[in-house]
Amino acid sequence: MNMESGKTAAVIGAGLGGLALAIRLQSAGVRTVLWEKRDKPGGRAYVYQDEGFTFDAGPTVITDPECLRKLWRLSGRDMADDVTLLPVDPFYRLCWEDGTVFDYADDAEALARQIRAINPADVAGYDRFLAYSRDVYREGYEKLGAVPFLHFSDMIRAAPQLARLQAWRSVYSMVARHIRDERLRQAFSFHTLLVGGNPFSTSSIYALIHALERKGGVWFAKGGTGALVAGMVRLFTELGGQIRLNTPVERIESEGNRVTALHAGGERHPYDMVASNADVVHTYRALLGDKRGDRLASRRHSMSLFVIYFGLRGLRPELRHHMVLFGPRYKGLIDQIFSGPGLADDFSLYLHAPSVTDDSLAPEGCSAYYVLAPVPHLGTADPDWDRMAVAYRDRILDYLDARYIPGLRRDLVTVRHFSPLDFRSELNAHLGSAFSIEPILTQSAWFRPHNRDDRFGNLYVVGAGTHPGAGIPGVVGSAEATASLMLGNPA
Ligand SMILES: Cc1cc2nc3c(=O)[nH]c(=O)nc-3n(C[C@H](O)[C@H](O)[C@H](O)COP(=O)(O)OP(=O)(O)OC[C@H]3O[C@@H](n4cnc5c(N)ncnc54)[C@H](O)[C@@H]3O)c2cc1C
Repeated sequence: MNMESGKTAAVIGAGLGGLALAIRLQSAGVRTVLWEKRDKPGGRAYVYQDEGFTFDAGPTVITDPECLRKLWRLSGRDMADDVTLLPVDPFYRLCWEDGTVFDYADDAEALARQIRAINPADVAGYDRFLAYSRDVYREGYEKLGAVPFLHFSDMIRAAPQLARLQAWRSVYSMVARHIRDERLRQAFSFHTLLVGGNPFSTSSIYALIHALERKGGVWFAKGGTGALVAGMVRLFTELGGQIRLNTPVERIESEGNRVTALHAGGERHPYDMVASNADVVHTYRALLGDKRGDRLASRRHSMSLFVIYFGLRGLRPELRHHMVLFGPRYKGLIDQIFSGPGLADDFSLYLHAPSVTDDSLAPEGCSAYYVLAPVPHLGTADPDWDRMAVAYRDRILDYLDARYIPGLRRDLVTVRHFSPLDFRSELNAHLGSAFSIEPILTQSAWFRPHNRDDRFGNLYVVGAGTHPGAGIPGVVGSAEATASLMLGNPA
């Protein structure tokens, strides 16, 4: 409940992690101000409105809705009063160029039937993989997903479990131990890409995503993820929190081992505590002027994305809400995205077709979409995006028109794109990375930038760049971990 604590806090960045943290602080009575560079809150979950269409810029797959409901319960409220979650079924439709279609669903029978149709021997293998995934979910997510790793001893304590779960293996290799068919291996390993991880090098701990989805379902916020953001902003401001949009923070001021104020809009604003939801390299380099920013900059970063938002005349009921369209290569393409050289000629796509679930996102008789292609970040490949973005966009739209959405070109009403350059300039993302520091084992938990800074005792980090990492449950879990430090051990 909101009992005034007398403390003040600033949160830099109104991404989902920043919003979740601000709600937690304000609910506990800390007077909190959210400072956001852009004209709207949400960060990667920004919203575009073009010609009557509503486009969620980023996250669309909501898993673990319980982590969101908890934010409302902190002040005795009910999320359902602000946000309606709609179930998505199937979770995803997966398509390959050879015509194979796999509906990745919550229905155990339907899953087994489809696996059997592709390779009968893999039904038992899938059951073993599911048991493993549930095991890591309990150990990695339920026990460790929202607790901070500040000391190496925290890591040592977790080590026996990590060893038992063979966390040094990759997600793909763990799936491949149990499942033989290459398409099914792809179907149960691609998820790491949704949080910026390469399935061939991300720790098998991330196999927990499968159990997370099976347990909590896959949901869509009615009105789009933007409606979730709006609901979080409403909750925060009704609790008394303040939000300053269009106000980039320019500098965090420090004295000794404390941060004292932030500078924004040409003024100095003192606070008892500061938490940054902005990119971690930007936070340490640009805002703090700290050499540790250079070390963070040299860490391996997740890939970037090229995203196209488009609206069409007509409905396409034959599509599914979430579709993964595998291209001709899997490992080869992923290797090239994460390690280069250059931008590949082929692509694999994620297609978001929310009008299948929610008719409020497009004018009557029309439908809204986005399609994204994972692409290298600007440190791996730096093509002249300004010059070639439209041609790249058109290649992807032509591919969709030819294979999945006939008549797309003819029915196109509106289109816009977001390239790695935009991730860098709009979101201050180092190298234009879409998911911050890559989630490999040696950059996870204690090895990730800590939720509380090691030097400045009242400076904190929240969001994709800290523990546990990217994705909605990740950044909302990071807010819980960071809030526990800010509230349990206040400055
Ligand atoms: C296209 C795309 C699709 C995705 N799909 C999914 C999905 O379906 N499901 C899922 O769970 N996850 C998904 N993700 C991942 C998920 O969206 C992100 O991990 C998460 O939203 C990041 O939240 P964050 O708290 O780290 O903040 P961010 O969203 O990174 O926000 C940080 C904020 O800080 C602001 N900022 C930066 N510098 C300053 C400054 N100096 N002063 C003030 N403000 C500043 C930025 O403007 C921004 O608003 C997707 C990501 C992308 C890009």
